[in-house]
Amino acid sequence: MNFGVLHWSYRDFRMMPEELRKCGQEVLEVYLKENFIPAIPAWFFEEMVRLKFICLAGNLLEELPEQISLLVNLETLDVSQNEIKALPKSLGCLHNLTVLKLNQNMLTHLPQEVGQLVNLEVLDVSNNRLNEIPVELSQCVNIKELILNDNQPLVQIPQKLFTLPQLVYVSAERCDLVLLPFAVNTVSLEVLKLFNNHALTHYPLALEKFMQPNYDLLNAVELKRIRKPFYHREIICEALQTKLIFPADLTAILDRRKSGHNASTLVEICLQKCYDQSERGVIHLPTTCLPVALYQKLQHGPVAICGSIPCGKSIFTRGILGLVKRRKHARPVIFSILFCSKICADLWFQYSCDDFSELNWTLI
Ligand SMILES: [Zn+2]
Repeated sequence: MNFGVLHWSYRDFRMMPEELRKCGQEVLEVYLKENFIPAIPAWFFEEMVRLKFICLAGNLLEELPEQISLLVNLETLDVSQNEIKALPKSLGCLHNLTVLKLNQNMLTHLPQEVGQLVNLEVLDVSNNRLNEIPVELSQCVNIKELILNDNQPLVQIPQKLFTLPQLVYVSAERCDLVLLPFAVNTVSLEVLKLFNNHALTHYPLALEKFMQPNYDLLNAVELKRIRKPFYHREIICEALQTKLIFPADLTAILDRRKSGHNASTLVEICLQKCYDQSERGVIHLPTTCLPVALYQKLQHGPVAICGSIPCGKSIFTRGILGLVKRRKHARPVIFSILFCSKICADLWFQYSCDDFSELNWTLI
């Protein structure tokens, strides 16, 4: 008998089968899908140390024990369709993990230690109750697939996640997103699904290539669903009934048609320089070297990248905003674009005025 791969799904197990212990260290893969297992016992972690693949989808698990960190060879962990409410911090010790499926559980948050899963390629956390995604996840630079659908309380996804270097597929449908990223990795990203987020008020122009026919229209905005106003800045646009929402980090949202906006602030220049010389915002300095607020801004990365190609300068606190509509376009979609300076904004509008019409707006 080959103990390397055990297919023990759909067997009506009411607890982790003790028979597994006889196979012990020979087992590399175990399928225990759709049983009624309520907990993973300590011996499982101590004795099944060679495991590379576990599928426990569709059981009754309420937690993952801290000892999961003993399974150092684990490459795939599928505990989808359980009743897990929280994850252990020790999950971050599974450095060989490439696939993590946590969909259809009851998670309200992810531990920041998920950022230590340096080999992670696929993360599925759809159908949970997540209200935020930790920015530390952006340290997982090998992520290719990120599935966040159906997390009703999720208002925002860290901008940095959209610029992960290997990213191919992101889906965050049916959440409650109020803001989308102003910069995405357009080199590798092939699919970006954002259907049915009814609190979105505008689309950053950088996302236009991912839009599809019949994409959720902005006149479907449900104002009642726009919560937490203290997170945002608001803008009135003459072409729209609803207010447009922008990140609170943008302390200065400037209009290119009102002159005198070229000079960057010292804070902005410092953030840009520090970020350019860091590894995606990971600063190799003691935290005491920088004020906490600046340190956090660097960790979270820029709010946007200047929309005037090839400038590509980071924008942290201060940007020139353009609100535009495509001239020959039936859909009434308002696109937003941020620039690092008036010069960049003027250049972009000069080259793009045949395709886009500029809209008037006022900061509230
Ligand atoms: Zn620029």
